[in-house]
Amino acid sequence: MRILQFSFWAGALSTLHTVTAQSGKRYSDIKTKLTGSLASPGVTTHGPYSIYHCHANTALVQQDLDLLWAALLPVIANTHFGTASPAYQAFFKDSIYDTFVDEIISNVTTGAPLLKKNSATPQSPLIVCIPGPNILNMTIAGVETDLYDACKSGTAAFYQPQTNWIFLCPFFFKLVQQATTPAAFCPAITNNQFEENGQEGKLVQNQMWILMHEIIHFYLDSSPGPATSSIYEAYDINAVFGLAVSDAISNAQSYIWYSACKSLAFPVGMS
Ligand SMILES: [Zn+2]
Repeated sequence: MRILQFSFWAGALSTLHTVTAQSGKRYSDIKTKLTGSLASPGVTTHGPYSIYHCHANTALVQQDLDLLWAALLPVIANTHFGTASPAYQAFFKDSIYDTFVDEIISNVTTGAPLLKKNSATPQSPLIVCIPGPNILNMTIAGVETDLYDACKSGTAAFYQPQTNWIFLCPFFFKLVQQATTPAAFCPAITNNQFEENGQEGKLVQNQMWILMHEIIHFYLDSSPGPATSSIYEAYDINAVFGLAVSDAISNAQSYIWYSACKSLAFPVGMS
């Protein structure tokens, strides 16, 4: 849901590695493990996606990806209407970017590989679970950091910029996989504003859309195209609605509100 931009993560990327909680003994870093064999213990693949360290939650992540695939097919078809689609108009505002929006969302369904700084070859997203403290560490500029620290304050998931690493915190798995009655939570529109009644968050605060949010970060970050390299985090539906076009296509949550709202009957009233 939230991208972490610790200042010390802005420097050169180092290695991600596991440690045992008991002894602190380091294993080889993830990149080396994956290069060696995708079938190495702890790694499950789901199409081009890799799921690492998720243990009993692996099946949930696989189901989340399947739910996304099914939900996004009609959304991808909708992008071709550009601003003739009220949902596209609300969140992206200009048909000039409909091919780009199509491509970014299509990538989520295909897990297309992308070149990142943590690898010499294009990589598909690697979804890594952080089960608890003292299990996954990242060495940053020589300083060993427990990735679980980033899971505090109720963070469900985050993306490590310029890598293919998407991290899921324990809180992620306390959320429902998808909104059970989503139609009840699609905001109505009055005076060109979505009506916020405190319920609309239930539409997007679930595993499916939060996972997509982080995957979108992966595809927007250092992806060739019109999105800016800086990362926007407008989240609230009206904040997203109010973004300028160039910011909207760079904002991960814009793709989530568009996809979530398009998967419902989009409310009338937006002009
Ligand atoms: Zn984000």
